[in-house]
Amino acid sequence: MKFLRQKILEQRKSLPIAAVEKRLVEEVRNNHTLIIVGETGSGKTTQLPQYLFKAGFCRDVKLVGVTQPRRVAAVTVAKRVAEESGVQLGQRVGYSVRFDDMTCGSTRIKYMTDGLLLREALLDPRLSRYSVIVVDEAHERTVHTDVLLGLLKNVQKARSQSANELAGRANSNNDTNLEKDNGVQMASPPKQGQVAKLPPLRLIIMSASLDARIFSEYFGGAKAVHVQGRQFPVDVFYTLHAETDYVEAAMVTIFQIHLEEAPGDILVFLTGQEEIESVEGLVRDKLPQLPEGNRNMVTVPIYASLPSEQQMKAFMPAPDGFRKVILATNIAETSVTIPGIKYVVDPGVVKARNYNPRTGIESLNIIPTSKAQALQRSGRAGREGPGKCFRLYTEREFEKLADSTVPEIKRCNLSNVILQLKALGIDDIIGFDFMEKPSRMAIVKSLEELFLLGALTEEYKLSDPIGNQMAKLPLDPIYSKALILSSQFNCLEEMLIAVSMLSVESIFFTPREKQEEARTAVKRFSSPEGDHITLINVYRSCDEFLESGNANSSKEKTFKNMKKWCKENFVNGRSLRHARDVHSQIRDHVKQMGLRIASCGEDMLLFRRCLAASFFLNAALKQPDGTYRALASSQMVQIHPTSVLFRAKPDCIIFNELVRTNQNYIRDVTRIDPMWLTELAPHFYARQD
Ligand code: ADP
Ligand code: MG
Repeated sequence: MKFLRQKILEQRKSLPIAAVEKRLVEEVRNNHTLIIVGETGSGKTTQLPQYLFKAGFCRDVKLVGVTQPRRVAAVTVAKRVAEESGVQLGQRVGYSVRFDDMTCGSTRIKYMTDGLLLREALLDPRLSRYSVIVVDEAHERTVHTDVLLGLLKNVQKARSQSANELAGRANSNNDTNLEKDNGVQMASPPKQGQVAKLPPLRLIIMSASLDARIFSEYFGGAKAVHVQGRQFPVDVFYTLHAETDYVEAAMVTIFQIHLEEAPGDILVFLTGQEEIESVEGLVRDKLPQLPEGNRNMVTVPIYASLPSEQQMKAFMPAPDGFRKVILATNIAETSVTIPGIKYVVDPGVVKARNYNPRTGIESLNIIPTSKAQALQRSGRAGREGPGKCFRLYTEREFEKLADSTVPEIKRCNLSNVILQLKALGIDDIIGFDFMEKPSRMAIVKSLEELFLLGALTEEYKLSDPIGNQMAKLPLDPIYSKALILSSQFNCLEEMLIAVSMLSVESIFFTPREKQEEARTAVKRFSSPEGDHITLINVYRSCDEFLESGNANSSKEKTFKNMKKWCKENFVNGRSLRHARDVHSQIRDHVKQMGLRIASCGEDMLLFRRCLAASFFLNAALKQPDGTYRALASSQMVQIHPTSVLFRAKPDCIIFNELVRTNQNYIRDVTRIDPMWLTELAPHFYARQD
């Protein structure tokens, strides 16, 4: 048997990118901005940072930072690269994502989300710790990637100016030193009292889409290099008729492949945790009905909010003789490459944000993928040999798909990024050099929203202290506002729990075959006032249960107990654990900010008033027909069937989010008194009726 390290070394050498290592390093030396385009799986994300480290780009205690649009990618890739480099994760190779930092002083290759690097810029505007920033998966064009590119352009300018000044003064250029260097360098700390000399910031933009032109143009004609990939033929199959239920269709297809096709793992694209868990359940229930010899199939989920220790499971080979079915969100489209896939099942849909600047409402919609996405997805079946892709829609539907996805910046609420830009001292948002400008209306609407939340002054400057505090919290502005206000309403304890629970997907777990039981279980927690308090009840009940057990019990024991408790109560254990993580992190944040953490005890009226004071932009009034009118947008909406207020239908409510499926559904709803709106948000409601 080969040693693992040697096997890994051979794998690394066989990647398409390995053949061009030297050339790539040369190009990075010679170009301050470089665009690297290469097919998914060619080795860009895992290999390039290691090449740069080896070539000495981390000398002088500098880091190579690699940004990813998704936290799962940052985490799993960092783990892989640590393994490949033979180092412990969190040492030389680490990652940092919201609520989870695995880096230390000796970290040199740092994977992180693009959103996190934006936040780092708040503390260190010239990103002085980095010699190279790699913006990975740029083709995804998330709103954070787009804003980050604009910001990096500024940082690059600032840093080359400072480098030139220094070069003029000292007649020596840091950068030339770097170029002469070819070996692995020991990091040496800067001497005390020395002016911080900053080498120019090198920027590498990596993309899986073949069209490098827009990036090149944006960076003044930056050079682009292509890395040849390796792709085996993939047979694509369509359905003859449109499917009405793609979850059901996906399940049927999984079993068809399992029973009729040669060995090989299956990758299924679904839209989110809820769907993934529902398919997991369906497959689990159906497997025992197969003939004995055919039950050799296992499912593994992978999605953004999956706890990181579980994410790695998707990469592990299935037990001998078993077929692995990976149930993934579009994270598996280009961000992570899982070995062994031979079949792809593609329902052709994706969950995407959509923003209507006229109404100011952002919603999550399930929409058709673009052609480019469909091609990326099918390509995943042909990485290691010929494969098959089953598109769960007709060929005519494929022809009708848009060529590529609209960049997120054109279809999302901009409040979050505008707040960040303001905090970075960039006041002229409309004049900011965006790669693709969001509409003026969207910018104005978001500015207005931030003003209404108190984050901006009438001159649209960051307000103090509210705006500053809000910018510091790694949360959506409205959640940050709720936390800040709740310390005045004496219910920060409660709001911390509510915000943590709202930050994760589906706390309740409703198996299809046990719907009645699940409903009864939920009743134990449900509050007549609404979903927010219900969520708090769940969180606290679990806490009480854990505390009532042995306080000294081991971590494993606690974990086991919690799992059992969740199962009995139809609570999603994964989500609840995630929420508890988020809770402890935000708690640290608000403590550091000096907010007063207090509880309102039994007096939930205070908590609801605080919700009204913060979520007043998401208030809705009942109409005679039992539907609701959202007050800020005049949109007609309905309470989602999973809400505890679905039947009660109170007159006036606030909601957390709008989800559009076949209806406009509002989720996470709490009853409020309409008079509170004029009392607590007079700047918005006094001028209206
Ligand atoms: P790219 O960024 O060009 O899409 P990657 O660098 O992500 O490519 O992947 C290169 C190779 O590394 C792939 O063939 C993939 O199978 C392998 N790989 C990546 N992550 C892991 C992992 N966690 N476990 C095993 N193999 C991995
Ligand atoms: Mg990659």
